[in-house]
Amino acid sequence: MTTTTEDTFTDAGTQEETIAAIPELVGQMRQTFAQGRSKPLSWRLNQLRQLKALLLEGESTLLKALAADLGKSDFEGIMTELNFVISEIDLTIKHLPGWVKPEKVAAPLAQQPGTARIHRDPLGVVLIIGPWNYPIQLVLAPLVGAISAGNCAIIKPSEVAPHSSAALATLIPQYMDNQCVRVVEGGVPETSALLKERFDHIFFTGGEVVGKVVMRAAAEYLTPVTLELGGKSPCIVAKDADLQTAARRIVWGKFLNAGQTCIAPDYVLVHPSQRDALVAHMRQCIDQFYGTDPRQSPDFGQIINKRHHQRLCRLLDSGTVATGGQHNEEDRYIAPTILTDVSADDPVMGEEIFGPILPILTTQNLDEAIDFINARPRPLALYIFSQSKDTQQEVIDRTSSGGVCINDTVMHISVPELPFGGVGTSGMGAYHGKASFETFSHRKSILSRSTRFDPSLRYPPYGDLERKVLKKLF
Ligand code: NAD
Repeated sequence: MTTTTEDTFTDAGTQEETIAAIPELVGQMRQTFAQGRSKPLSWRLNQLRQLKALLLEGESTLLKALAADLGKSDFEGIMTELNFVISEIDLTIKHLPGWVKPEKVAAPLAQQPGTARIHRDPLGVVLIIGPWNYPIQLVLAPLVGAISAGNCAIIKPSEVAPHSSAALATLIPQYMDNQCVRVVEGGVPETSALLKERFDHIFFTGGEVVGKVVMRAAAEYLTPVTLELGGKSPCIVAKDADLQTAARRIVWGKFLNAGQTCIAPDYVLVHPSQRDALVAHMRQCIDQFYGTDPRQSPDFGQIINKRHHQRLCRLLDSGTVATGGQHNEEDRYIAPTILTDVSADDPVMGEEIFGPILPILTTQNLDEAIDFINARPRPLALYIFSQSKDTQQEVIDRTSSGGVCINDTVMHISVPELPFGGVGTSGMGAYHGKASFETFSHRKSILSRSTRFDPSLRYPPYGDLERKVLKKLF
């Protein structure tokens, strides 16, 4: 293990001490950034390698934390959190030397002789606020972007996943350059104290309500924000869909992390004639994946806490339970549940479900399904199962969502070339792959003129010749 620890900011003190230390911490980081410490490509690459070492060598610590917080299996923890970030790091290390090169663009004739180019400048000191559902991935993947662009960063993991937050607070100081990368643990008071400070970018992942709090605080300093929010992601199963594959992929995407995934299919829209067959296939998949008693399955997660458990249990009263429905507060368990006969006014359709409950609604045709989606806030993800390219295209053309995945669920997030982000109430801005580097960079436009030739055309006094040239050149 390599350490670069200098004056480690530990969160071991009281809440008051943590809050009191925040202005100085941010001030120190601003100074460090101003001195240019995080700018060189060599620093960025080194920090990316250090982050990878943290994930590889800290694997067991991180997996234990994920299991304690969310009952997350090692397989899921590696696939959806640790390896996810490692892939982002590998891709970034490979391409960063190319991304940081100035981008040449054409200079118009009027600016000749001259050259134009775009420089990617780091933004400065950035704040990354994470949620609890993928508590490692959702702070470290943005950190890859922040580091790659040459920024200093403060990470504020979610206090709702305390083991993961503590694991990060322990590991980050051991691996990362502590003058430039810090963890501040805590909940609302600590985050509120951070938000009082001036940052150069705030990258927030969480719910709509807190997203507004963040944006209001950012407005004070005109700090740009990326908001990675949530919402109800619909899943259309068209009449010509391969029902068996659709069922398997929907069940997988929905019950991954016990449904606590921002892009989990929130509800399904299917033709009435297909509904029962789809539900039967889904029931079979649930049995295959998690056995007849999913509570015993090491591959099925827990609800994050009792408050969310109680919230989800209230949603079980909507419609008819087609399968599942069992729950136990002690174990924070809710069985993979499918609800049918659900109406649009039922509580389960009134909020983002964010748990292992899947309502199946029926629509008579594609128009009705599209109208249903368009009558609601724009979702983070939209899923369409259909064999027809025309149907797929029609859904893409007539709806608006952060992203679309055709004949699968969730997997579009794992394509690093696809920017990941929401639209409307599901968020603003995007990241992953090069998009992360761009999000944390300022595109500085530069025009460089030669002094060898300086025609007097643009300088007053303006005569007829100048006016004629004006129409042609400018
Ligand atoms: P949340 O908004 O409650 O909390 C997110 C973060 O904000 C936490 O770090 C928390 O400490 C902080 N926070 C909470 N209240 C605050 C306040 N009043 N002032 C300042 N900071 C505050 O979100 P959550 O419950 O952790 O996560 C669930 C939500 O996140 C869902 O809506 C989900 O869809 C969304 N989400 C989105 C993505 C995405 O990539 N778009 C990923 C995961 C989760």
